[in-house]
Amino acid sequence: METWRCATYVNWDVAGTTTSGTIADGLSVVTFDNTLPASTIGRATSRFNGTANGSCNMATTVWYLDEIDVQFRDNPPSVGFNWEYGPASPSFSEYDFESVAAHELGHAHGLAHRIAPGEMMHFSISNGSSIRSPSGNETDGGLAKMAYSTVPLCLTPSGVSGPMIALVPGSCALPLPIELLSFDAHVHGKEVDLVWTTLSEANNDFFSIERSTDGLRFEPIGQVKGAGDSHEARLYEFTDKDPLSGFSYYRLQQTDLDAHYAYSKVVKIQMETKDVFIDILQNPVSANTLQLIFDSPEPCLATVEMYNAAGQKAGNEILDISSGKNLPAIDISYLAAGVYLAKVSCGSKTVVLKFIK
Ligand SMILES: [Zn+2]
Repeated sequence: METWRCATYVNWDVAGTTTSGTIADGLSVVTFDNTLPASTIGRATSRFNGTANGSCNMATTVWYLDEIDVQFRDNPPSVGFNWEYGPASPSFSEYDFESVAAHELGHAHGLAHRIAPGEMMHFSISNGSSIRSPSGNETDGGLAKMAYSTVPLCLTPSGVSGPMIALVPGSCALPLPIELLSFDAHVHGKEVDLVWTTLSEANNDFFSIERSTDGLRFEPIGQVKGAGDSHEARLYEFTDKDPLSGFSYYRLQQTDLDAHYAYSKVVKIQMETKDVFIDILQNPVSANTLQLIFDSPEPCLATVEMYNAAGQKAGNEILDISSGKNLPAIDISYLAAGVYLAKVSCGSKTVVLKFIK
């Protein structure tokens, strides 16, 4: 609603709830519906009205949008269909509700489908993608429709007292606390540098930097103070000094002085996987116990194969290693005194260590 209201000043507003779900009954209804066709995730139906008036006739009467009905797909999760209601970005198993809602309201505005990938009125949207603002063409289309809908002549639809009165600029409530020009993450040695720029800021309190391993569940890892109000480009930086190994996702949460917040897009980076450290803690071994040390970024099922000086296999162990430091002890009381080699593997790392009993 706010996307279109703020782009075209279309005078739509929201009334209360209703039990009516009928299409084209004079009452505009937005609802979830589990009877939409299989490949349809949203549907808008518009009813136009127009009555010849005075010197106007049917040929000169502009048809006035009189009713909008929008239905959104409503399936239980077992069907494998999920909405992302925002403000987060949709994952690959989700469809973006805001994008589809804005698209359907584009139809309600009188815009048809286009073959325009990446634009809001493109005929389809993929799971995992979001298009939440109209393109310049689409805004122009909406404004052209507004020019019809607000003309005071030849427009007296039945039951409507006159043409639509457009909202005035400034009356739409879309919060635009900052204009975020860019947000990027770069791997820099063992650290991750996050850099973002704002073009303008209003009422901006602070940024929270959030990190995720799966792009869905984010945790805050730091804060950077905002400028409050600014009308010039500003550069911000934050360094994640202790990044996760493998893939990580980052986003910004921007919080206003009145505690409203919004999220940036999500960026993804890949760190080199940290090496696994494996060694023997004490050598020669004491008290018939082989004490190993593991430092692993990820859990592993480690194998320990022991060979005697003649190269014969003398023992075999499997160890459940968790991430971080582990100090597992292996009972080697059954081994005769002598020199041994231990071949130890954890994940993709294998080392051969010599020990004396
Ligand atoms: Zn459509």
